[in-house]
Amino acid sequence: MGVFVIVPAAGIGTRMSTAASNGAGSGSAAPKQFLSIGGLPILIHSLRAFLAVERVKGIYVAVRGSEMDRVKAQVAEFGLGDRVHVVEGGENRQDSVAKALAALEAQADDVVLVHDAVRPLIDVAIIERTIDAVLEHGAAIVGLPAVDTIKQVERTAHGAIISSTIPRERVVYAQTPQGAKFGLLKRAFAEAAADEFLGTDEASLLERAGVQVSVVVGSAKNFKITQPGDLELAEFYLAGAR
Ligand code: C5P
Repeated sequence: MGVFVIVPAAGIGTRMSTAASNGAGSGSAAPKQFLSIGGLPILIHSLRAFLAVERVKGIYVAVRGSEMDRVKAQVAEFGLGDRVHVVEGGENRQDSVAKALAALEAQADDVVLVHDAVRPLIDVAIIERTIDAVLEHGAAIVGLPAVDTIKQVERTAHGAIISSTIPRERVVYAQTPQGAKFGLLKRAFAEAAADEFLGTDEASLLERAGVQVSVVVGSAKNFKITQPGDLELAEFYLAGAR
């Protein structure tokens, strides 16, 4: 049994544009995964977390064609070793993961985890628990229990109107890693492609393929760096970890 990791890192990160000049990128509009926190590119933090897990045999990073040389150079510069492979991503996250899946030579029973490049503060213990949950249940994701009350709304011309309250004990925020046995994930992606279904995470593809997905408790630290203030928050968490 092997464990493989796919890291989609081919986003443009337009919501970050006002903070996209902290020197980590080659130009003034570096995608967020190439910005630095704690002196290291966000992507490198994410890759290091998975490299720290001994069971991980290989990591496939999906990046834009124009970024491949930059990422290969960073993999060498930071001494990440030959477990890291750089592949070309696609037009959306699902497409980037599908392309990495196609490049992956694995057995049906191998574990494949997918982790957003822009969640650099994932901790090793959560990765280990996710792998164990995939081995036990076939598929698993990291999810953060909701603490706020959750409302379902209708979008109207006059703004959002509440239609119901969803009991928060029945809600988790889907984080990554999300994973499954290779055979299940391949089937879920093939079915989504055949139906032209586009999801924002792997679990949505697995769910519609009839696969039961279990949830491992995540952490607030494992948030997705999305908006400008998020870099400061990530720096804050990192400082606490040192
Ligand atoms: O777009 P979002 O913020 O949800 O991106 C989550 C992850 O998916 C990011 O790491 C991003 O780089 C990646 N992504 C990708 N290919 C795309 C779009 C997003 O690999 N075309």
